[in-house]
Amino acid sequence: MRYIGAHVSASGGVENAPANAAAIGARAFALFTKNQRRWQAKPLTTANIDGFRAACERHGFGPDQVLPHDSYLINLGHPDPDALLRSREAFIDEMARCAQLGLNRLNFHPGSHLRQVSESQCLRTIAESINLALEATQGVMAVIENTAGQGSNLGHRFEQLAEIIDQVEDKSRVGVCLDTCHTFAAGYDLRTPEACEATFSEFDRTVGLGYLQGMHLNGSKSPLGSRVDRHHSLDQGEMGTAVFDYLMNHPATEAIPMVLETIDSARWAEEIRWLYSLERS
Ligand SMILES: [Zn+2]
Ligand SMILES: [Zn+2]
Repeated sequence: MRYIGAHVSASGGVENAPANAAAIGARAFALFTKNQRRWQAKPLTTANIDGFRAACERHGFGPDQVLPHDSYLINLGHPDPDALLRSREAFIDEMARCAQLGLNRLNFHPGSHLRQVSESQCLRTIAESINLALEATQGVMAVIENTAGQGSNLGHRFEQLAEIIDQVEDKSRVGVCLDTCHTFAAGYDLRTPEACEATFSEFDRTVGLGYLQGMHLNGSKSPLGSRVDRHHSLDQGEMGTAVFDYLMNHPATEAIPMVLETIDSARWAEEIRWLYSLERS
């Protein structure tokens, strides 16, 4: 049984997210545990925490079915020491919030060099940020999302993900979330079963499929290798649908959260049903 869902609203409190997911037939979901566009967040209250845990229980969501996403403001590879410290503190706070909610993963975009330091220097800073966060928290895995490679965002090449993981001390608490749109925009073809096989074999050789701890399922408005991050509905855009059939039958996608970030939330229930209809094994 695969865990398919969407990035649902947590408006009014994180405790509302599980019902929003259940309402669209999801068996997984993503959420922000705080406002993703603000640095400051009120601590989670007992009502938030107990309410969230009870709602997950009621709707049948275990920790492996939830993939929280961190704030867009955080840059764990920031070249400026003060800005880096701020990002690290915010990230540790987000890891701690996940632990409070009984969750075991936090999905984040690796970071950007802002054209001020070298790629390898930035990747080293990101790995150090992860090491600090893992030391400061317990029970939550840092799940690095691959990016489309817009601007100076790192993590668009599988080699970059591997370079970060190589420098993380506790390999049992680091993973990867592959986003289909980002993968395609970064230049990895997914338009045919053969192309999917080549791309996932390359990921396995470079990073290792054992690190795959989540997926974002999105169509892509932008072409292969464009390095432009524009999501589309699953059946629209430049990528086609072969990749979704491939993923719904790949052994590496069993028992990890796979969430839609497609542009038309009115279609999420239909997209989830369609994905499940592809599952043969
Ligand atoms: Zn994503
Ligand atoms: Zn994206």
